[in-house]
Amino acid sequence: VPYKKTIATLLKRQLNPHIYELLTDIGREAEQRNMHVYLIGGMVRDLLLGRANEDIDIVVEGDGILFAEYLQRQYGGHVRSHEAFRTATWKHPCGLKLDLTSARTEYYDFPAALPKVEMSTIKEDLFRRDFTINAMGICLHQSEFGELIDYFHGYQDLLNKQLKVLYNLSFVEDPTRILRALRFESRFGFTMDRQTESLAKESANNLLAVSKPRIANELIRLFLEENPLFAIDRIDDLGILPFLLKNRDSFESMKQKITRLARATATLTENSVPLSRSLWTAYLFCLTPVPATEACWQEVHNFCISKEDHKLLNDLQALIEGASLDKQPLTALSDWHHLFASMQTEPLLTYFSLVAAEQGIDYLLARDHLNNGRKVAGADLIRAGLKPGPDFKQLLLEAEKLQLDKPDLSPETIVKLLADQ
Ligand code: ATP
Repeated sequence: VPYKKTIATLLKRQLNPHIYELLTDIGREAEQRNMHVYLIGGMVRDLLLGRANEDIDIVVEGDGILFAEYLQRQYGGHVRSHEAFRTATWKHPCGLKLDLTSARTEYYDFPAALPKVEMSTIKEDLFRRDFTINAMGICLHQSEFGELIDYFHGYQDLLNKQLKVLYNLSFVEDPTRILRALRFESRFGFTMDRQTESLAKESANNLLAVSKPRIANELIRLFLEENPLFAIDRIDDLGILPFLLKNRDSFESMKQKITRLARATATLTENSVPLSRSLWTAYLFCLTPVPATEACWQEVHNFCISKEDHKLLNDLQALIEGASLDKQPLTALSDWHHLFASMQTEPLLTYFSLVAAEQGIDYLLARDHLNNGRKVAGADLIRAGLKPGPDFKQLLLEAEKLQLDKPDLSPETIVKLLADQ
């Protein structure tokens, strides 16, 4: 385990200077009040891995809300506290946000009640976490600044690139941890150790009892990691699929769709096209059979956690069902044009990757072509003396359609054709 001086140097070198200063200020305040405070969780793990992470989670041995209030009196900003859980979020005047938790034991009066919270020690707090690599703390108290708190050998597991649960019932207690394990495997190239993986397999059926939005919270982050194909392979290895969705496509077909969608997404990202997080629902949709029945759509909708998530699925459904109602595949670029004019990138990207690709239509080519068409035709209309007004948008659309289907027409001819219509 690295010495505290080493960790203190890492903190200084790696963190944004604002954050470093804030942590040393907190350590000083803690020392003055004779309280023990620790930086914990993902930020500690990422610091040791040399990765950036600015989610500052702090555990206070004592009362997190009181400590947050001291900090606010001293440095300004404002505090939002959650009495029931004895946690607080302190927003520093510079805009940084810190979560402060009271080291605590939770116990339940009866099943399904909100936990009652009792103060306890940092060791107990860390013991309730998901994996050893996430169960380390760094002491902030001034005289012990940088001391690594590692009761469960997380540092060694980090070096060995291993994910280990802290106790055998971990996945039974919270089956979403299985999906969290896959996220860390995917992101860091780590693997679960044998024992942890077999516990994950044994407890996978417990996912059935977890609410869909809670599962969604983890699936979002899993599918939006760099390699969604890895995610689906591992979900299959662990036998989780039946406990996620009732309506499922064949595994090969799922993989094929995910591969196409991931490839198109990567190209857009490389071209700096911003994409909404709701794209994760498209990956979820890749798991259902095509054509999707109403029951399939409903099942995917049940996982949505935002209005945007529902909207993406509704747009996608409209695209898929619209095209299949027409029976004949839409192949002329102008057929697509109104869609590009009215729909957002994410449902279009998904539609093209999952359905239109089978008709040989490539989203990126269509998009480039349409973008080029749009520029030329719009400029030409203006040059021909048309003023932007209420009908201009419609005219522009018509001009672009003409230009897309008949690229050889000169701009003058297009304008003339429109005028004659
Ligand atoms: P990311 O970088 O993807 O945000 P993270 O580890 O910071 O990963 P969070 O979900 O923000 O993940 O969780 C912060 C910390 O809280 C974790 O490092 C872990 O210690 C703890 N934690 C979060 N969810 C759970 C859980 N379901 N069970 C146990 N501990 C959890």
